[in-house]
Amino acid sequence: MLEYVLKERVALAKGYPREFCDQVVANSDIVDVIGQYVELKPGSGEYQGVCPFHADKNPSFGVNRVKGMYHCFGCQASGNVITFLKNYLKLDYSECIEYLAERNGMQLPTMVERSGNYISNRDIYDINNEAGKYFYKNLFTEEGKKAVAYINERRLKKETVMKCGLGFSLKAPDALYNFLKEKKYSNKLMVTSGLVVYDQEKGKYRDRFRNRLMFPIFDIQGRIIGFGGRVLDDSKPKYLNSPETPVFKKRTNMFGLNIAVKTREKYIISCEGYMDVISLHQAGFNSAVASLGTALTEEQVHEIKKHVDKIYLSYDSDTAGVAATKKAIEKCKKEGLSTYIIDMKPYKDPDEFIKNLGVKEYENRIEKALSAFDFLREDYKDGFNLSNPDEKANYVNGLIRKIVELDDPINRGTYIQSLAANTGIKESVIEKKVNEIGQNYQNKEVAEISQEISRQDREKVRMKKSGTEEAQRIILSIVAEFPELYPRLKEYIQEADYEEGAIRNLASFMYEILSKGERLTSSLILNHFEDAVDSDQYAEILAYTVPYEEGDMEDEAKYKAKKYAEFAQSVTLVYEKKLKNRMDSAEQEKLVAMNEYMKFLRERKNILEELQKL
Ligand SMILES: [Zn+2]
Repeated sequence: MLEYVLKERVALAKGYPREFCDQVVANSDIVDVIGQYVELKPGSGEYQGVCPFHADKNPSFGVNRVKGMYHCFGCQASGNVITFLKNYLKLDYSECIEYLAERNGMQLPTMVERSGNYISNRDIYDINNEAGKYFYKNLFTEEGKKAVAYINERRLKKETVMKCGLGFSLKAPDALYNFLKEKKYSNKLMVTSGLVVYDQEKGKYRDRFRNRLMFPIFDIQGRIIGFGGRVLDDSKPKYLNSPETPVFKKRTNMFGLNIAVKTREKYIISCEGYMDVISLHQAGFNSAVASLGTALTEEQVHEIKKHVDKIYLSYDSDTAGVAATKKAIEKCKKEGLSTYIIDMKPYKDPDEFIKNLGVKEYENRIEKALSAFDFLREDYKDGFNLSNPDEKANYVNGLIRKIVELDDPINRGTYIQSLAANTGIKESVIEKKVNEIGQNYQNKEVAEISQEISRQDREKVRMKKSGTEEAQRIILSIVAEFPELYPRLKEYIQEADYEEGAIRNLASFMYEILSKGERLTSSLILNHFEDAVDSDQYAEILAYTVPYEEGDMEDEAKYKAKKYAEFAQSVTLVYEKKLKNRMDSAEQEKLVAMNEYMKFLRERKNILEELQKL
């Protein structure tokens, strides 16, 4: 099992060597990393803050620098720096390693031999960053004045411009090219990053973005992955984006998502344009995002679902916007997002809306947003003359099919009610029809539910405690903190004595490391089990802390004494139980042997005769 876990982990880590990953984790200061996202105050022995993983009123969230772990007393969330990034930023393992390595200034070992020609993602982030600074500075040049005038016209504040990193690309065909050349960037990197294009006819390099207001596009980790550029006049195309590059993926990334996820808002507002996002952010709606020049994609919806369960669509109110909304609803429903539609009328888009009606009214529209079904119903109505009974029947039947299609068992009742109220047809009649058409869907649901029940049952069996499981957990968590206790531990309790499953896996791993005299910390242990299916359990075991009194942890000696005492108690308990078990099973064996002996005495004569025959 352990071997399996480790193999899986290495595979998932895109081949970054295990030693490297461990080093990255060891070099990362958990207080520093989490402190970027959660306000932490030094408390007794550890840093405390408001938990980002549940609706926390008190600071229940503790971060322990020495252990390299965090733990929430409210929702029991716990783990190391990687677990945090996985759950907070929804990064996968290798992305966490890349994120931390970059923060620590560690060079990533690359799979491809790093020759002079090889371009890494890091190189692209670097050149993009340089270009971003360059575009920003252009705002303050003579030529940049028209961009500033445009920014003022759009009523963007100085802070907004800085927060979004807006900039300006000059008119000259090779302004950026020359700037980057001077900074010693290679032509190949410039082209790979999409900032520069090679013009084959003229045999020259030229800038992709010219005479445009520039919007840097960030990934969730805050790195510039590409740019969008908007013209200042009526020339075409109105918007130009970076091409697909090794780091710029239009189908998955979104404009503004890096800021939206930091708000920890329970929803995302999806808009059409960059300007919509920027003016919504300026108005305080920081969870607004936009696609990168395409319609909302399945990949983007999937990405959104990692962070929230609810989405507001705030698209243009014109025909194209309504069509985009309908397509988006389909994708959002498929991913299981609660979907609401914000009515922008009488204005075209959120940007115009807020300028004219203000923040309060937009807030009001969010509150009054239509559910996906109500939106579809209103939209569907347009094609029918409802005073004609035949058409009305077609209309209702069409909507019933939509209810089934939405495949949303939780809200189905509400949809039926809403349809009944809107058409004057009895709920029971609509419901019967829905059930008829929805038979297939229901069968699917029943299958899913029975699967879920059997999963829960298996879980229960697995969780059955042996009586000393709690003590075993305590032992391992204390030894992870005080490895010097290991020699005493192994005298009394061996690997096989631990409960099967996560506890024994953890014990095996710790015993293996400790018997070699290698370095061990809770955070490193978790790093090894990061990709195990039951990885939560390891964090839970290691996060175990003795309920201590205020001020306890400030007195290190006192704290240690307390831990040692608890260790001794727990080891004694487990050892005692182990010996008793052995006596019990010896007892059992003795009983079995006695039974056999009695039987022998009874049948002795027969056996003797039987044996003589041979
Ligand atoms: Zn919590």
